[in-house]
Parts: sequence; C-alpha cells; structure tokens
Amino acid sequence: MADAKIIDGKAFAATLRAEIGRKVAALKKSGGPTPGLAVVLVGEDPASQIYTRNKAKQTLEAGMQSFKHDLPAETSQAEVLALVDRLNHDPAVHGILVQLPLPPQIDSNAVIDAIDPAKDVDGFNAVNVGRLVTGGVGMVPCTPLGCLMLLKDALGDLKGKRAVVLGRSNIVGKPMAFLLLREHCTVTLAHSRTADLADECRRADILIAATGQPQMVRGDWIRKGATVIDVGINRVPGENGKMKLVGDVAFDEACAVAGAITPVPGGVGPMTIACLLQNAFTAACRQTGHDPESF
Ligand code: NDP
Repeated sequence: MADAKIIDGKAFAATLRAEIGRKVAALKKSGGPTPGLAVVLVGEDPASQIYTRNKAKQTLEAGMQSFKHDLPAETSQAEVLALVDRLNHDPAVHGILVQLPLPPQIDSNAVIDAIDPAKDVDGFNAVNVGRLVTGGVGMVPCTPLGCLMLLKDALGDLKGKRAVVLGRSNIVGKPMAFLLLREHCTVTLAHSRTADLADECRRADILIAATGQPQMVRGDWIRKGATVIDVGINRVPGENGKMKLVGDVAFDEACAVAGAITPVPGGVGPMTIACLLQNAFTAACRQTGHDPESF
C-alpha cells in the first residue's frame, strides 16, 4: 500500500446533497415548485428495493417530493407504459426514474423512450443520449456525472488528458466516454474484445473501470500517478465467510501506483444518488422557467 490520494466520494456526495437541499429551499422561496421525483420499481429484486428506498429517502431529505410506485413482478409492459404516461402528464412530477433491470416481459428501451425527455432524470432516453453526443442541453446519466464531478474536483481542468474508459454499457461506459470528450480528453473506450487491454490502460492519465469484473484491473495496468475511478460494485466472499464489496480495480495494488483513486465502497456509489437529486432539481427548474444555475 501506498500513497495514492483516496477520493472520498461519500463526503463529496454529502456536501452535494446538502447544497441541493439549500437550492431546493431557495427555489421554493422564490415561488418555484417543490421538485417531485417519481421512482418506479417493478418486481421484488432485493438490490433494487434497497436502491429505490434510498432514493426516496434522500429525495425527501433534500426537501423534494417523492412518489414511489412499487408494481408486482408480473406487471405487463402496457401497464408500465400507462403509468409512465400518467407521470409524464402529472405537473407535480418533474423527474421519472424506472429502476432497472425490468422483468423479462418488459422491453426496457420501450419504457425508457416513453419517458418525457424533460423528466428523464436518468438520462437514458435516446433524446438525451443524442443531446449528450451532439453537445446539446439534456439530462446526463447519474453515475458518469458523479465520476466527472470527482475527477474535476481531483484534477481541475481535464483538457488534453488521456482517458481510458473500461466498459461500454449504455448506462456507464458510453456516456462516461462522451462526457470526457466534452471536457476535451482524448478518449479510448475499451471492452471485452479490446486487444492488449492492460497496454491500453497503462496509457491512461485517467482510468475509469466499469466492467463488473471483480478486481480485474491490476496494479501493473496503471500508469504511475494516474487518477483511477472505480465504478464497479461486486459482491465477493470475504475472509470471514461473509460477503464483501469490491470494485473492478485491485485496490491495494492500485494504491501503490495511482496518484488518486476512489475506494469501493465510499467512492462512486454515493455520487449516483446525489446526482439523481441534482438532475431532479435541474428538471424541475427547467420545466417551470427557472434557471437552475441561478440558485
Ligand atoms: P454491464 O455488464 O452492462 O457492462 C460491462 C461492460 O464491461 C461491457 O461493455 C463489457 O464489454 C465490459 N467487460 C466485461 N468484462 C470485461 C473484460 N473481462 N474485459 C474488458 N471489458 C469487459 O455493466 P454496467 O456498465 O452496468 O456496470 C459496470 C459495473 O459498474 C458493475 O460492477 C456495476 O455494478 C457497477 N455500477 C455501479 C454504479 C454505481 O452507482 N457506482 C451504477 C451502475 C453500475 P462488452 O460490451 O464487450 O461485453
């Protein structure tokens, strides 16, 4: 172990949530609405239940309204689409989040694309993806947005840095790559068919790991002094037989080489919900003619 600076996402997220709470209060005081966030959960996946409960709790703590819709696992696609349509037309709801994964009888893309882009606080709707790629104003996916905030806080200007994003999912890898491109990084988007993965990673000033493969990024994959953002959340057996959380990066090895690194847990994870609250605030402002930057 080492001298890498540990990037404290938990503390950063707590400060961000407090700041959002202050902005929500100022918005209400200026005659604006109470931002409302609707969270839709279909089925009883235990991890999704924990995530949606935490999202609802933190929404209320920030002074916003929370609308929770828990539907049975056998709910049809038509029923989910009908609920989304109702929420799209509900003026008290400024943000809509449909918790993924959805049960197999429901086409996730159809549901995501049915959400009004202005209320799509997850930023997964094709309209918002298009705006991110073309440089327009839209909703940015929460996890990559949280990673970007941590990076800017750690490094300041990202212009000209070589960034490698490991993983090309629609919810993390791809939007992360486009956010970094927007910051004028030179971006490599790597995946399971990338040749010489370790060599690609060793070129990175900024390495984002989002593969879902426990501790696959070894210390000797990391350039000395690089900033490492570990998005992975993997449950593996610990020494005492209990399950523990690890990231996609071998943390102890990485600490000996990296300049700065996010831990798991306590790094990117807490930023995701904080950014969701920020997106809900932004959505409420934009839908009611307020400038989110003015608070
Ligand atoms: P996906 O499974 O959707 O995507 C994984 C990506 O990693 C794919 O692009 C895949 O490549 C690539 N990959 C998988 N194995 C390898 C490998 N051996 N070498 C190179 N690339 C590989 O995962 P998500 O993007 O949804 O999530 C990634 C991780 O981030 C997970 O651990 C997840 O739990 C975590 N996560 C954390 C969040 C947070 O709030 N902190 C939020 C969301 C996710 P290919 O496309 O070629 O198959």
